[in-house]
Amino acid sequence: MSYVCLDCGHAFNVPREYREKHGLEGPPYEWIQCCPLCGGSFEPSVECDLCGRDVAESEVKELLGAYLCEECFKNEGGDTDVD
Ligand SMILES: [Zn+2]
Ligand SMILES: [Zn+2]
Repeated sequence: MSYVCLDCGHAFNVPREYREKHGLEGPPYEWIQCCPLCGGSFEPSVECDLCGRDVAESEVKELLGAYLCEECFKNEGGDTDVD
């Protein structure tokens, strides 16, 4: 499983993990995972079937059973007006 950062676009396999104490003195702590580069939120990524770029799951476009990044989707003539 790999991930892609929604803030900086960085693709990575192992998210950074930190303990969120919520201002409490002791446990339970919450383990928060974030982008190792910028600390932003991330999503599981899907590899674009055409260019191999990592695309966030929510941003991937499906065209004829292939998973494409937005750029390839447009290049393949996909309809982006649905948004
Ligand atoms: Zn990031
Ligand atoms: Zn692509």
